[in-house]
Formats: sequence, structure tokens, C-alpha cells
Amino acid sequence: MSKVAKCLSYVLPVLLLAVLISSYVAYIHTYCAKFLKKEPVLTVVLLVVLNILFLMLVWALLTTVSARPKLVPEKYKVKKEDFEAYLKCAETEAQKKFLSNLADRMGLVLDQRSSFGMLRFCSICLQFKPDRAHHCSHCGVCLLKMDHHCPWIANCVGLHNQKAFILTVLYTVLYCSFYVGTTMPFILAYFNGHTDFTTVPIMVGFAIAGLLGTMAAIFYLYHCSLVFRNETTLEEMQRKVLFIQTSRTYNLGFRKNFIQVFGRKWYKWFLPIYTSEGDGCTWETKESRSSSRQATEPNRHNP
Ligand SMILES: [Zn+2]
Ligand SMILES: [Zn+2]
Repeated sequence: MSKVAKCLSYVLPVLLLAVLISSYVAYIHTYCAKFLKKEPVLTVVLLVVLNILFLMLVWALLTTVSARPKLVPEKYKVKKEDFEAYLKCAETEAQKKFLSNLADRMGLVLDQRSSFGMLRFCSICLQFKPDRAHHCSHCGVCLLKMDHHCPWIANCVGLHNQKAFILTVLYTVLYCSFYVGTTMPFILAYFNGHTDFTTVPIMVGFAIAGLLGTMAAIFYLYHCSLVFRNETTLEEMQRKVLFIQTSRTYNLGFRKNFIQVFGRKWYKWFLPIYTSEGDGCTWETKESRSSSRQATEPNRHNP
């Protein structure tokens, strides 16, 4: 990506941050300082909640934007001469066989396949793609457990920031709900003619929070459903081509799927710090889990 394109990609996250900061200032400067000035206790309570939600949201957003993608380890890289030999394979079947033999020689264990049934290979980065890894054309790299590229954060969502991304969306929903809920009495009073206090910033903040909060809520529910199914957005779109046996799934159950993204320590679940589990290259599937369990279970008939 050129430097200009890189700078332009930050327009949306900066705009988002500017909208959030403007709404925050409008709330404090006009709503709390003017409309609620005769109710100091209520104002303090509202300000405490507002500041907690705002700080968590900005922390999560900045973490999501600044997180560096987790890249594919060196052992997946292919030597130049092997790549040249791969290019000489004229037919799909020959390419398929070549990649399979090459992965065996390199000692790689890969479950997922491309739509042609081939091992997934990135001819830009010259490497095999570990399961759940994809190449992002915006970022120009293959990254582990890629979910999607999000222009609002000028970054990919993947193993490196999936938790922070979901928390960003969650805190957006909470912040916007708080904003709409607490300014609603003023909006109603204004439209019912019970107050002559008018302020454009709060009106605009209310409208933006309502719109942003609704969109974020839909997005949040969708991403929660992905976490609990242990699927990425890309996997959901390509479900039928990722595994040779389409019944294979990373869905290990509600609890284990959640822990894989959010970690085991409950007090870190709401903090945008990295607590996801796994190396990002090898992933347990429901089938591998049940077969390993069968292998370790004692045989009751022959103890
Ligand atoms: Zn790549
Ligand atoms: Zn990307």
C-alpha cells in the first residue's frame, strides 16, 4: 500500500473518533453544564458513567486500530525453487499433488483446502496459509485467523485484535445507549414544549448515537454469534469449501469457543488486552477433539 493510500485509510477511524469526542464534549458542555445544572447529584452520576464508557470505548478502539496483525510463521514459507517448480505444474491436479507433497516434506499439518480441493497457498507471500489464515489485499500480508478487513479501523480483524474489536463494538452500543437513554427526557421535553432550552449539539449527538448504536448493536449480535459458533466472517461465507469433509467444524461448544477468543480469566473479559488462546496456526476441530478424547478414555471392558 502506498503512503498516500495508507494515510487515506485512517480517514474513517479519525472521523469516528472525532464524532465520539464531539458527542462527549456536547454531553458535558451543554447537557450536563446547562440543562442539568440544578441537579448536581444526577450530573455527577451521569458524568461518572459517561466517562467510564467513553474511556473504555476509546481504549478498545485505539487497541483495535493499532494492533499489529499476527503473521504466518517462517516455517510456512516456501523456497523460491519450490515455488518455481510449482509454477511449472500446468494442471490443477498436478499443482494439488505438488503442494500436498511439499507440505508433507515441510512437516506442515493443514486441514483447510481451497475451492479446488488444494492446500491453500499464497503466491504473493510465497507461503502456505495455516488453517484460518488469509491474505488481505489491503494490508498486503497473510494474517492468522483473519475475520475481515474493516475500513472503520483501517486494520484487519483477526487473531491479533478480534477480542478488542468485539469490545469496541460492545462499548459503542453501551455508550450510544447511555447517550440516547439519558438525553431522551430532554428531547421529549423539548418536543412537548416543556422547555425552551435548545441545543443543536445534543440534538445531533442524540441522532448520531441512535444511528451508530443501532448499527453497532446489529454488528455486535452478529459477531457474538460468530464467536459462539467459532467461525470467522470469511469462514461463514466459504463454509462449503474450507474442509474436504464439510461436517468438520471448529465449534467446540459455547464455553470453549468463548474462551478461545476472550481467555479464561473473567476479570480480563471486558478489557481490550490480548487474552485469546492458541498459536493461531493449529486449531482444534470438533472431530479431532472427540477422537483424542476417545483415545485417552480408559476402556471399561479391558481396564
Ligand atoms: Zn499472503
Ligand atoms: Zn487487512
